[in-house]
Amino acid sequence: MTVFYELRLSRDFLESIMSLIEEVRGRMRLAAEVAGLSSEALAPLLRPARRIDLKIPLRLDSGEERVYEGYRVQWNDALGPFKGGLRYHPQVDLAEVEGLAALMMLKCAAVNIPFGGAKGGVRVDPKTLSRSELERLTRGLASSLGGNIGPTIDVPAPDVGTTSEMMDWLADEYGKMVGQSEPAVVTGKTVSRGGSEGRDVATGAGVFDVFEALEGHFALDSKNAAVVVQGFGNVGAEAARQFAEHGASVVAVSDSRGGVYNANGLNLAALESHKETTGTVSDFPGSRAVSSKELLTLPSDILVPAALENQLTAENAPFIKTKVILEAANGPTTPEAEREILKRGIYVVPDVLANAGGVVVSGFEWRQNRENARWSRAEVLSRLKAVMSAAATDVWEYSRRHETSLRLAAYALALERLAAAERSRGRG
Ligand code: NAD
Repeated sequence: MTVFYELRLSRDFLESIMSLIEEVRGRMRLAAEVAGLSSEALAPLLRPARRIDLKIPLRLDSGEERVYEGYRVQWNDALGPFKGGLRYHPQVDLAEVEGLAALMMLKCAAVNIPFGGAKGGVRVDPKTLSRSELERLTRGLASSLGGNIGPTIDVPAPDVGTTSEMMDWLADEYGKMVGQSEPAVVTGKTVSRGGSEGRDVATGAGVFDVFEALEGHFALDSKNAAVVVQGFGNVGAEAARQFAEHGASVVAVSDSRGGVYNANGLNLAALESHKETTGTVSDFPGSRAVSSKELLTLPSDILVPAALENQLTAENAPFIKTKVILEAANGPTTPEAEREILKRGIYVVPDVLANAGGVVVSGFEWRQNRENARWSRAEVLSRLKAVMSAAATDVWEYSRRHETSLRLAAYALALERLAAAERSRGRG
C-alpha cells in the first residue's frame, strides 16, 4: 500500500517561513537601491530559475511502502553551478526552501565564490527511520533528482537532518547512474569518500575569521572580548572554541535545554566534556543558569546567535547589550530588530557573510574532487581564512563607501556581481 505523508503545518511556522522569503526579497530590493540596480536587472534575481518536485518511494523495513515528498529549488547559476544543502525535516515547505535557496545565491556571491544558489528538502523525520531505510531513501532521492544534479549543474550538500554518510550514498548512487565515479556531485562527504579536511569546523572557524578581519574597525580585540553564544552545536561550539583559543572570554552559552553564565568566563574544555556526559550545557558547575532568551540580553562585546532563525526580535532588541552581533545562524535577526539594533550603534555582521565558511570549504571540496587532489587541514583552514578575510574587508569597505549597514552592503555587493554575470550571459 502506498501512503502519502501529509503533515499539518502550524500557523506560526507558516508565518515564519513566509517571512523568510519575503524578508530576503525585501532586503534585496533595498540593496538594489544601494547598488543602483534597475528593476529590470533585479527581476531575474528575485525568482528561482527552477523548482523541482520530488516524490521518493521507500519500502520500509516492515515491507510497508511510502512515498516522501520534497523539493529542490535552483535559484540562480549565473556565477557557477547551483549549490546548497538538502534537508530532511518533517516541516520542509516550498516557501522556506525558496528563501534558503535565495540566501545561498547571495551568500556565494557576497563571499565571491564561483557557485550559484539552491536548496532542497524532503518532508521526513529522519529520527523515525532506520539506518537502512535512510540509505534507501537517500539513494531514492539521488534517482529522483536524476540529471538535475551534477558536478557542473547543481552540487548539493548536507543540511538540517542530513549527514556526511548520506552524501556518500548520494555520490555513490549518482556514480551508478552516470556509469563513473563523480565525487564532485555533492560536498560534505566523509573524508574517506572525498570529503574535505576541515569541513567539520569550517563554519565556526569562518565566523571567527570574519570577526578577526574587522575587529579593528569595531574597536575590539578578541583577547579582551566577552563573548555570548546562543546554540552549542556544530557552529556555535566551534565559534566559541575559536574565540577562547584567541584569548576571548566566553561568558555564556546555551543549547535547546537552557543556558549557562559566568561573568568571569566559562572553562570551555570542561563545558564540552560536561555536554558530552550529560547531553546538555545546563547545570554546568560554577555557572549560573540563564534562559536562552535571557542570554541574548546579557552584557557582552560579541553576541553570536548560532541556533535558530528569528531570535533577535522587536521585543528583545532594545535590551541587547553588546557591540557586535555575528550572525552564525541563518536569519537570527528580524528586520524590525535590526533597525532598532543599528539605531543603537551595534554592528550586525550578516549571516550571508558570517556563516559562509561552510560553503567556502564545500567549494574547496568540489575543487579537490575535480582536481583529484587532497589538501591538508592546515591548508584548507588557511585558504578559508584568506577568503573570509577578503570578503569581510570587501563588505566593510562597501558599507563605508555607500554609508549603509553591513547586511545591505553584503547584499548589494552580491547583487552587483550577480547582475554583471547575468548581463554577460545575455540574461539581464
Ligand atoms: P546543530 O544542530 O549542530 O546545533 C544547533 C544548536 O542550537 C544545538 O546546540 C541546539 O541544542 C541549539 N538550540 C536549538 N534550539 C535552541 C534554543 N531555542 N535556544 C538555544 N539553543 C538552541 O546546528 P548547526 O549546524 O550548528 O547550525 C546552527 C545554525 O547555523 C543554523 O541556523 C544553521 O542553518 C546555520 N548554519 C550552519 C552551517 C553548518 O555548516 N553547519 C552553515 C551555515 C549556517
